[in-house]
Amino acid sequence: VNTPELVHTVSAVRDAVAAARRRGQAIRLVPTMGALHAGHTSLIGRARADGGFVAVSIFVNPLQFGPSEDFAAYPRDLEGDVAAVARAGGDLIFAPSVEEMYEAIPSLTRVSVAEITEPLCGAARPGHFDGVATVVAKLFAIFEADTAYFGQKDAQQLAVVRRMAQDLSFRTAVVACPTIREADGLAMSSRNAYLTAQERAAAPTLYRALRAAADLVHAGEREPAALRVKLMEVLSSEPRLDVEYAEVRDAGTIERIGTIDGDVLVAVAARLGRARLIDNIVLHVHGDDVDVEAGEIKGDL
Ligand code: AMP
Repeated sequence: VNTPELVHTVSAVRDAVAAARRRGQAIRLVPTMGALHAGHTSLIGRARADGGFVAVSIFVNPLQFGPSEDFAAYPRDLEGDVAAVARAGGDLIFAPSVEEMYEAIPSLTRVSVAEITEPLCGAARPGHFDGVATVVAKLFAIFEADTAYFGQKDAQQLAVVRRMAQDLSFRTAVVACPTIREADGLAMSSRNAYLTAQERAAAPTLYRALRAAADLVHAGEREPAALRVKLMEVLSSEPRLDVEYAEVRDAGTIERIGTIDGDVLVAVAARLGRARLIDNIVLHVHGDDVDVEAGEIKGDL
């Protein structure tokens, strides 16, 4: 197991990236907020497989948390994260302080992506995606990576980051990676640590709802409204869940769709105890042909 270099400043990143470039290596970036789990390490593994210099950023970005959200409580475990990055084959960890990243909070400069940030999670978390777009733009400017890796788990974030990188002409290509799940289907998330044992037992209901919606499409259903009804039926069978949304959208633009065709995002969000959980699947529908992209089960049974 290699030991990744741990740096805390932008200038140290620039030195390490320049050295890697001189060695002829491509630069791979995996942005995270730490408390790393198998979802994160799968991104690092994909970066490693692509070859070159693999950097992982660990930064709990205050800009993307609302005033009543869990910024202070968000799990932090740099020691555990360093070990996880080492096992996954990362070369560099960038763990800056808030002061290193921002002159002042709120920062004067924000990167704001319109339209695709408005529905779904954007509706419940005003300003969240501007915070994400701003920090990812900064990371792209700092690393000038060839590729950066993002999880399909955060489908709307992926769409926002893709659009931001394109609109601002970053050289970095955005690579989407599958959602990694526990054995019972629950999408891995640092926030799953907030769940009590009873809540944890209820949490796979999100995935069950998504699978039930996919089954309808397999059976020939093409009406978005019918899927929404099915999603709500399964979600509301679990009284601990406080459903925020259950929606069917175009996977690329996050726009509403009239019929289920092409690349379709089926996405849910719900509060469960202290946690806010999100999950999604993508359906690729071409006539009678239906392909379900639901991620990978990685947890031990
Ligand atoms: P976070 O630390 O939660 O901000 O996530 C950092 C990156 O890991 C984002 O691109 C997430 O989409 C991705 N990620 C988080 N959970 C998972 C998961 N269960 N499977 C795949 N990617 C994930």
